Amino acid sequence: MATSGGGSYRNGTHRNSLKVDRPFSMNSNPKTSVKSKPLSSSGLRRSSTGSIGAAKDDAGVPGRVRVAVRLRPRNTEELVADADFADCVELQPELKRLKLRKNNWDSDTYEFDEVLTEFASQKRVYEVVAKPVVESVLDGYNGTIMAYGQTGTGKTYTLGRLGEEDTAARGIMVRAMEDILADVSLETDSISVSYLQLYMETIQDLLDPANDNIPIVEDSKTGDVSLPGANLVEIRDQKSFVELLRLGEAHRFAANTKLNTESSRSHAILMVHVKRSVKGKHSALSSEKGSNLHMKTLRPAIVRKGKLVVVDLAGSERIDKSGSEGHTLEEAKSINLSLSALGKCINALAENSVHVPVRDSKLTRLLKDSFGGTARTSLVITIGPSPRHRGETASTIMFGQRTTSIFWMMFLCAGTSIVWFRAMKVENMLKLKEEFDYKSLSRGLDIQLDKLISEHERQQKAFENEIERITTEAQNRISEVERNYEDALEEERVKYQRDYMESIKKLEEQLVKNQQKHGFEKVPVRSEDDCSALTSNTESSKISAVEEVSELKKLLQKESLLRKAAEEEVNSLKSQLAQWKRSEASGNSEIIKLRKMLEDEALQKEKLEGEIAILHSQLLQISSEADETRRRLDRGGSGKVPGDLDSLFSQVKLQQQEPGNGEKASVAKLFEQVGLQKILSLLESEDSDLRIHAVKVVANLAAEETNQEKIVEAGGLTSLLMLLRSSENETIHRVAAGAIANLAMNETNQELIMGQGGIGLLSITAANAEDPQTLRMVAGAIANLCGNVPLKLMPINQQASICYLGSNVDDE
Ligand code: ADP
Ligand code: MG
Repeated sequence: MATSGGGSYRNGTHRNSLKVDRPFSMNSNPKTSVKSKPLSSSGLRRSSTGSIGAAKDDAGVPGRVRVAVRLRPRNTEELVADADFADCVELQPELKRLKLRKNNWDSDTYEFDEVLTEFASQKRVYEVVAKPVVESVLDGYNGTIMAYGQTGTGKTYTLGRLGEEDTAARGIMVRAMEDILADVSLETDSISVSYLQLYMETIQDLLDPANDNIPIVEDSKTGDVSLPGANLVEIRDQKSFVELLRLGEAHRFAANTKLNTESSRSHAILMVHVKRSVKGKHSALSSEKGSNLHMKTLRPAIVRKGKLVVVDLAGSERIDKSGSEGHTLEEAKSINLSLSALGKCINALAENSVHVPVRDSKLTRLLKDSFGGTARTSLVITIGPSPRHRGETASTIMFGQRTTSIFWMMFLCAGTSIVWFRAMKVENMLKLKEEFDYKSLSRGLDIQLDKLISEHERQQKAFENEIERITTEAQNRISEVERNYEDALEEERVKYQRDYMESIKKLEEQLVKNQQKHGFEKVPVRSEDDCSALTSNTESSKISAVEEVSELKKLLQKESLLRKAAEEEVNSLKSQLAQWKRSEASGNSEIIKLRKMLEDEALQKEKLEGEIAILHSQLLQISSEADETRRRLDRGGSGKVPGDLDSLFSQVKLQQQEPGNGEKASVAKLFEQVGLQKILSLLESEDSDLRIHAVKVVANLAAEETNQEKIVEAGGLTSLLMLLRSSENETIHRVAAGAIANLAMNETNQELIMGQGGIGLLSITAANAEDPQTLRMVAGAIANLCGNVPLKLMPINQQASICYLGSNVDDE
């Protein structure tokens, strides 16, 4: 049984069996002619973020299926109930492991591609679970993202959350579309979406609920699966997509109410078709070969098609008992059917098996072309922390027992989550390294990073909104000023025109009057009287002409004053406009400053992520080294040295038996990991084995000039002299004398040793010594103390260290 301890379920599996071929390698053999175009190395995407998923890809070990597990945080009710979830399940995200406790003394450990704790942000979940799939869809492959878990554990939260009230909460569907829209060009590419529900082996269109028995059609040539009966809506912006999701969700709710069921009993399926026209490779080739331009233009555009399917699966709770919960046997059977058929398919994919049994259910038939050789599948298993059904389902732990190398498990976790998953059961889990500081540090950093990511996302959104608001406001102001300016100009123009017309009219009238007068003057002169009358007439017309001129002058003056005033008004409007422009520019510089701040923050975040990645890799390296050492130790049958330093001392001990540079490195590592103080404190340990190990380590450290001062400062010299005084063990005497000899190379230390009665102690040690090697060490120490060159054991560093390392506790 899978749950029995040890590793009886392992079935001969070894870790590598999980690592199937890279689906996106250049050598992969895509099916259709469109897809068969090999991806250029630049076309091979890398996740732009430092996601762990991407890191793993880079290491070259992905499968066609990646399985992640995500724990939902406790809700208020669960917090009140004080469910001790940690007692049953322990997540070890840094090791990508989940530990399932069976009882007080026994637990099983499973390995996943990703382990996402309750602190994992939606953004990180997207990047780890979905982003690689979305990127491959953009490259023209099919991909599937599914969520599996008991009702209430967060499937819909993970996949379908719209996140309008809190941007950081956006789920995988919304984020995937954002990434797709950002990558395609709407002039040449197209995105279309169907949204469906699968209930009791019947497919219903969530965008048009009347459409409720949609057949699946499979192209016998290409193997492509399609649903010609389903609505296919073209998407051109994010807003309309979110609207479409909201509409689908509302229809799903209404349809389920009508069928008298719950949405948790049906699968919701979102299909996103991405068609991209690809330019470049072919036309570039033809032009290189010198073919004419016509050839190039006649060549049909290449279309690259990718399909992303996101499936929010029906709840995985024990459906065989569902009759008692008001569900029909038929419904239970159909849910069982599709989930177990899906299980078989994913199992086959994970094993890289040639045959994937898709025929068994509609769900798997629908996903057939997304299970192909080049497709990527991500499964996220959601688990909840509530202990409600603990006792009830203990007997149903096994689900669809399989004799394959992959473990399909259904397990009851804290009573709530019956989860099947492909997981690698890790045998003989070592207790090593469980107290690592790195572990809690890394976990702490992960939590902190996730919080920062959410906060950063919120801030970025707020910042973008603010920029948009400022820009709109500035634009409004500018257009208002422009409008005012234009109105004022128009008014002035009209006024001028009116005045001008009036002046013209007056002048014309004047002209007519004048002409009339002059016409009168032309009458022939007949008499003296007439003459005098003419003279007086001329006089009066002269006066009126002068008056007229002065009147005209006045009018002209008035006109020029008016013009001046208008010009001043125009100038003041112009300066107002300039002022608006200036304030707009200062707004822009503010925006630039804010952008810069945002960039700095992003850099900071990147740095943090980098540090975490380094910590991760250090942790993994140390963990694997420890595993290795333990395994070697187990083989050697040792294990005498007790205490939490045992593995490290064992490591040193092992390497003592294998001469080479490794010993120095491991002592240095020990020094680094355990700390000098801790090593020195072990010189006074009750356990003589430990004492011997410690004095050897100190002697080795003392052989390095750089360590000598630190040892003396930390009281190591005094401890060594104490050992000479108090110990009766000759190995300790020999090694301590050697260490003192090394420390005595330095003049300051010589005085210290003398001052603490070192010469006397060394003499007594020599007097009691039986082993000539001890005598040699003592002699060396005394020689160094006396500065007596001929007596010195040269080179004492090497000799001494070889001597300590060469001796072994067991050969005392
Ligand atoms: P499912 O679809 O599996 O039935 P839901 O997605 O509806 O579960 O989640 C159940 C409840 O738990 C919802 O109220 C949801 O908001 C909440 N929830 C689920 N996952 C999380 C999470 N990671 N963080 C916060 N709340 C969550
Ligand atoms: Mg749901």
